[in-house]
Parts: sequence; structure tokens; C-alpha cells
Amino acid sequence: MPDFLAADGFRRAAETIRAGGLVAVPTETVYGLAADATNAEACARIYAAKGRPRFNPLISHVADTEAARLHGLFDARALALADAFWPGPLTLVVPRRPGSPVCDLVTAGLDSIALRVPDSPVMQALSREAGCPLAAPSANRSGRISPTTAQAVDEDLGERVAVILDTGPTRVGVESTIVALLEDEARLLRPGGTAREDLERVLGAPLADPTARDTDTPAGPGMLKSHYAPRARVRLEARDIDPGEAFLGFGPVPEEIARKACAARTLSETYNVEEAAARLFSDLRTLDATGAASIAVAPVPKTGLGEAINDRLTRAAAERTGAGARAD
Ligand code: AMP
Ligand code: MG
Repeated sequence: MPDFLAADGFRRAAETIRAGGLVAVPTETVYGLAADATNAEACARIYAAKGRPRFNPLISHVADTEAARLHGLFDARALALADAFWPGPLTLVVPRRPGSPVCDLVTAGLDSIALRVPDSPVMQALSREAGCPLAAPSANRSGRISPTTAQAVDEDLGERVAVILDTGPTRVGVESTIVALLEDEARLLRPGGTAREDLERVLGAPLADPTARDTDTPAGPGMLKSHYAPRARVRLEARDIDPGEAFLGFGPVPEEIARKACAARTLSETYNVEEAAARLFSDLRTLDATGAASIAVAPVPKTGLGEAINDRLTRAAAERTGAGARAD
């Protein structure tokens, strides 16, 4: 039996979920703030705890494909993707199955539903033990950087969650890729921990871009322009350093930059995008905590998980337009 199942914390977590409470739980992507997806009051608590300004749809996490099919309608493409990538960092938006008990707050009243089987034994076990799908956005306050450690959750939301399950830093480090399978064309709604190239290989066709409808309300958090925002300004494609800046590199940090920067880290010494994705949010947090006014970020390639890294960095660098424009 894995340690966490024997631990008292896990039993308390399952009881908390059944009682309509919130539990912070690790997935392979980032730590999630989980509630019973069939309990509207419990899900409303997620929005309150995060200070999320709008009711954007949430992803429902289940233990396996069979459980996912209780809530969504899977065509041949959806089954092929589930087969190839679940459990894993891929969310499928499919037509909602009539009669699914997932509450309207989770689907934002849409006739579609976002489902994922995370590659996280603790999340799968929690869903099984609590006997419900788990609605779980990232366990951070709205607009802040997603947490990849239990400590980051504690700093951000500590007094607002009853239980934080800690299994160490998450492996993937960026959120799931979201693919919508609602029309003839499969659409990439959000790049993430599963690379576009791998999805297209299984689909045998290119992924289309989101439509205006997807990017309007009620599509949400991960898709808002200013998001994942540290306190410091973020400057992208940096090849040099300005006074007072911290530096986030890709590959070894050049000596001159290391000397001039008020703090410097690299996402990967060896130019590895998977390693860079896993470190992205914690490095941004660490550099932000130095109090630097600005974080200069070196160019990161745009292929593979680099697409998700560049997506998150662009949002971190976007103009802040007030609390209403930020979410998740
Ligand atoms: P997260 O913040 O990681 O929980 O991601 C939630 C995201 O999933 C939202 O921002 C939406 O973009 C997407 N999503 C969830 N449900 C749907 C849906 N039914 N249709 C389209 N997108 C959805
Ligand atoms: Mg988030």
C-alpha cells in the first residue's frame, strides 16, 4: 500500500471531500484545489478560496477512462487520445453525458465537460475513496503562479484549505493540455504538459486553434491574457540584463549575466524543455521572492513542451489590467 493510503492525512482528505470541503492535492502537473464536482456548494468554495472573480468551467478529475465515460460522450478520437495519454497531463473537452451528476457550476452551464485522468496515484485514490469526480483548478490565489510544491500551496492558501497532501514537487510542472472534441476538427484550447506534436500523431491530423467562442466567456483562467503573474514585471526573449533585474535562463547562465543580475537561475542547464517545464513556476516564485523589479527570461524554444512554457511566460508578461481581468 502506498504510504499516503496508510497515512491518516489521506483518510481525513477523503472525509473532507465527502463533507463538501476543500483539499489541496498533488497531480503530476501542479497542485490542485479539489472538491466534490457533484456538490455545487463545495465547488463554490473553490472560487471563494481562490478569489476567482468569475465562474469559469473547471476540469473534473476521475480515476480512469471508465469513470470519465460516466460524465462525457467519447467518440473514436476521444477514445484514441484517452488510450494514448491517460493517465497523464491531457484534458479532453467532450459533450456532456445527459444525466451526469457533475454540477453546473463546474461546467459553467455548458453542454460540454472537461475531463482528465491524472497520472497521480494520490488524486486517483482520492477520487475513488471519496466516490466522486474531483473539480480541481490549480491551488493558488487567482492570478498568481501555479504551485508545484505543497509549501507553495501553504504560502498562498494555507489558512483556506483544511488539508494539503504533500508528495513532493510535481513532475510535469505546467498544467494539462486541453483539447476540445466538439466538432469535426479537434481544437487545442490550451497548450500544456502533453506536446501538440504527440497529440497530432495520434489524431493523424493537425490540431485547430480555438474559436472566438472558446476564448470568450465562459472559457477561463488559463486562457486569460494576464495570468500566472508574479509581482515583478516579466521581460521575455532577454539576451542581456538591465540593472536591478533577475534572470531566468535556458541553458547555462552566461557569466556576465550571472555577475550583473541581482539573482539568476536556469530552467535547464542542458536545454531540456521537460526539465524547464517542471521548474518554471518554482523558479518564477523564487526569483519573485528576491524582490527584483523585473525578471528577464531567456528565449525558450517553442516546440514540444516549449509551447506551454512560452504560453505561460507570455501571460506572466502581459499587461496587468486589474483584478477582473485575471483568474485562476
Ligand atoms: P484549470 O484552470 O487548469 O482548472 O483549467 C480550466 C480550464 O478548462 C478553463 O479555463 C477552460 O478553458 C477549460 N474548460 C473547462 N471546461 C470546459 C468546457 N466545457 N469547454 C471549454 N473549455 C473548458
Ligand atoms: Mg491555474
